[in-house]
Amino acid sequence: MINKKIVLISDFDGTITKKDFFYMAIDKFLSKNALQPWDDYLNKRITHIEALTGIFSQIHISQDEMDKFISTIDVDKYFYDTLNICKKYEIPVYLCSAGTKYYIEKRIGETLKEYNIFLLSNDGTYSQKDGLRLIAPEKTNPFYHQDTGISKELLVKSLKSQGYFTIYAGDGIPDFSSAQIADVVFAKDVLLEMCKKKGIKTEKFDSFKDISDYIRRIYDK
Ligand SMILES: [Mg+2]
Repeated sequence: MINKKIVLISDFDGTITKKDFFYMAIDKFLSKNALQPWDDYLNKRITHIEALTGIFSQIHISQDEMDKFISTIDVDKYFYDTLNICKKYEIPVYLCSAGTKYYIEKRIGETLKEYNIFLLSNDGTYSQKDGLRLIAPEKTNPFYHQDTGISKELLVKSLKSQGYFTIYAGDGIPDFSSAQIADVVFAKDVLLEMCKKKGIKTEKFDSFKDISDYIRRIYDK
């Protein structure tokens, strides 16, 4: 039995969605060479936010094409079911992304409003000339992080200090520091491998149905 208030914190790319937006962009509009900034990031030559901007700034489609492309981001259909369960049990939902609000708000902005979801992410601008650019928050922002723009770890820490039992869902490198301190971790892909290596317990996470089932099991006891 969990005696604390529960909170759900989730990553966006590759967690709520099937595929990272930068991989979608590379597959659709860019060459494999466009991935060079990502290799530079993995080899610690540049920051995460520099890598994403390095890739996204190579997109030069019209605004209309960009909006259409964002609308094709494939969202896990069970995500909405999880949100309904969270609403039913008054579980706050936080979304944190080292990507940008630019495509998140265009894709699920209505859902964020409807379910009162707090979004922690970088700002972003798009123009055909300059591509998509990520803008980190000011350094004075309590969740600022030099590598990813925003710190998912500080968000989880803050919620824990408010007395919450934290459920974290993610799939990538920027999720690892949060996974290390969250009370329950739903991990897939790179994050799952990192957690396995470090001996961090994770829950089965094929889709948000697993998270819904987990929450139901807590409340239906
Ligand atoms: Mg991700």
